[in-house]
Amino acid sequence: MVDSPERKDPMGYYARLGVPSTATAERIKLAFRQQAKHVHPDHNTGAGAKDAFQRLNEAYQVLSDPVTRAQYDARAQELPPAPASPSSSGPAPSPSGGGAAAGRTRSSRAARPSPGASPGAADKSVAAIACSGCGTVTAQPRYVTYWRVISYGIGTRRQPVQGVFCRSCADRRGLKASLTTWALGWWGVPWGPYWTVKALWQNLKGGEKPGDLNAALLRQQALYFLGASKPALARSALDQAIRLVERPEMRQKLEKMRILLGAGGRESPPDRWRPLASWAFYLHVLLIVGGAVGAWTVVDQLALIAGQALIAASQAPALPPGPALPPPPSRLAATVPSSPPVPAPPPSILWHVSTGTLVLRDGPGAAHAAVGRLYQSDTVELLARIDGWARIKTAGGQTGFVAQQFLAAGAGTDDE
Ligand SMILES: [Zn+2]
Repeated sequence: MVDSPERKDPMGYYARLGVPSTATAERIKLAFRQQAKHVHPDHNTGAGAKDAFQRLNEAYQVLSDPVTRAQYDARAQELPPAPASPSSSGPAPSPSGGGAAAGRTRSSRAARPSPGASPGAADKSVAAIACSGCGTVTAQPRYVTYWRVISYGIGTRRQPVQGVFCRSCADRRGLKASLTTWALGWWGVPWGPYWTVKALWQNLKGGEKPGDLNAALLRQQALYFLGASKPALARSALDQAIRLVERPEMRQKLEKMRILLGAGGRESPPDRWRPLASWAFYLHVLLIVGGAVGAWTVVDQLALIAGQALIAASQAPALPPGPALPPPPSRLAATVPSSPPVPAPPPSILWHVSTGTLVLRDGPGAAHAAVGRLYQSDTVELLARIDGWARIKTAGGQTGFVAQQFLAAGAGTDDE
């Protein structure tokens, strides 16, 4: 591992700003502003202030530009062996170096117009751009920004996950950002869901890859490959840069440079950054679809539980408020036919016949066959009521139907 702080920070630039080497661009900017407040000559007339500000500014100029920062990081990776700089080699065109045409502008540390001091010593022509994740120098590095969203109730924070990555490292970081977002992004009012969906969508698409910035990065890598006598890789990097570039004048420069390099011996390698070329895309889709299904299931279940709770709550007060009645025997409940619901529970299950004689029938209606006969004040057990008819059970245990109008509530006086 190459993770000791000194190795990651050979010139101490990160240390000057007080940030880790994994800091996001935003954090670096913030750190610079905070420190500049204290040492800027406008605010601080102290003796060492000017010098301190210059040192701070030097670090910031390198680290605030993704390309120079990537070179600085790459230099950190390859520091220990301190490879001898190739003293002379093939043509290294340097468009911004003035004499572009096949000139041997070897030590072109100004290969790209750097706003400030170029990082480190100028003993190497152009530093390689390495993946900030694994340190590999690949032919297709990209500057990528993924988004991670974390919510905490009443707030939501969006954090960029960015850097110069190889495809594998980029995929891993993108997925990790999406997983975190999936788990923690939603739960913020009111913007959590919005930012979560947006971040997942951006990450699914492979993150943000600003065109001009990546073109500059690849051009830089092409120059490095040229210096390392790998013209095929240089051509490939330039081809990618031309594909990505947005500014017309920059495109012209790149195309001129590409012509100088001549035709390649072999085809460019396939674009490793096509969205569909990676397992990460499919995992993302799986994550989003699976997550959506999972979330829907959870919501569905919660709604069901909430619905049941509501029903239970609304039924609870409907229980007999007065003096408790004896609960009906469960046998009765079981024998209630599935029929229009009883409008109101009977005050008592014991009724009596209020007319001289009453025909007991085998169904609810006068057309049904008579199965018995009841007399005034006979006590019956009311089982159910159906359309003006009552299903009853006599003291003798016989069941049948009688017209309900001939029943009165309460047990009869004649219990015979
Ligand atoms: Zn990597």
